[in-house]
Amino acid sequence: MQTKKIIQDLTREELANSIKPAFRAKQIYNWIYHKYVTSFDEMKNLPKEMKLSLEENYTVSPLKQVMVQNSKDGSRKYLYELHDGHTVEAVLLLMRDKEYHEDGSVKHQERYTVCISSQVGCKVGCAFCLTAKGGFMRNLTAGEIVEQVRLIKQDNNIAANRRVNLVYMGMGEPLDNLKEVVKSVKVFADVDGMAIATHRQTISTSGLSSKIEKLGREELGVNLAISLHAVDDDLRETLMPINKAYNIKSIIDAVKKFPVNDRKRVMFEYLVIKDVNDDISAAKKLLSLLDGIKSKVNLIYFNPYGGTEFKRPSEMDMKKFQEYLTLRGLHCTIRESKGLDISAACGQLREQETSAI
Ligand code: SAH
Ligand code: SF4
Repeated sequence: MQTKKIIQDLTREELANSIKPAFRAKQIYNWIYHKYVTSFDEMKNLPKEMKLSLEENYTVSPLKQVMVQNSKDGSRKYLYELHDGHTVEAVLLLMRDKEYHEDGSVKHQERYTVCISSQVGCKVGCAFCLTAKGGFMRNLTAGEIVEQVRLIKQDNNIAANRRVNLVYMGMGEPLDNLKEVVKSVKVFADVDGMAIATHRQTISTSGLSSKIEKLGREELGVNLAISLHAVDDDLRETLMPINKAYNIKSIIDAVKKFPVNDRKRVMFEYLVIKDVNDDISAAKKLLSLLDGIKSKVNLIYFNPYGGTEFKRPSEMDMKKFQEYLTLRGLHCTIRESKGLDISAACGQLREQETSAI
């Protein structure tokens, strides 16, 4: 059992307040987030006593990698063990490959998105989601969220100054762990740390309306994604029991109040399940529901797993659904099933690991 505090749990200000002299906080942040050190001993420019005292009180390696799966499309899925033995997943998604000009010079670098978990398990209990099946264990701390990205960058030799995007779309409901998630956003964004601007971070929620408003009041500048998945309350309740507490109207009202960056849109995720929510009448309702909201829709193929009654929709139905919306002026993309061969949807790697035991 870990008794030491996780140093990544601290914002730079908090760190500066807890050590003397305070200016060392910037150096420590540099070692952790730019040089990816795994021990305090490696922090060469710190005085010896300080390194010893940090070592005594903190850990800089709160997660242990226990599994990695490589996908043919360049995506990689990681399973990490926490100090208490629980495991969480994070995924590196290769959004665009590195490309070269004819003369061999680099046209553009790879573009990465990291998908991170915010809880061990989830309380929300969506019928289609594998994470929900294992129940809820506990919230992650800000440092445990931050560490997923640091380890992935380190493991893939992604230099500190290379831009990555973050999506809180792994295991757990981020807004059910609002305090730690907000803190992690700030640690990620710190210019002396990973410097991942808040407009590169997207928080996805099953629609806890009151928490959406609370997040909005933080004025962080993060992007919002709503897991809508159904356009009428009856169906949504059967797919997502949380809809009994926060119905569709309450979500739409909360979204309308959310501060959205001028160049951004609120993303509505719509998991398409064959014969459940893939008919054109749903597309029609979706269009009217989003009227007046600066939104974009992301259609997701349901990714089947053993024991589920739900089915993946056909490509044709998916395209028809998309076309209905785009022809009427709504921004709508179909999410490429990144890493499909390694069970793209979060919760699925952990499930394999547990069932193998
Ligand atoms: N709890 C938050 C955060 C992300 S959950 C939320 O629900 O928004 C993980 C994402 O995976 C959600 O967008 C969910 O719709 C999607 N997902 C869950 N099960 C899936 C499956 N079997 N196939 C495809 N996507 C799935
Ligand atoms: Fe939780 Fe999101 Fe899975 Fe629903 S889809 S159970 S909110 S992780």
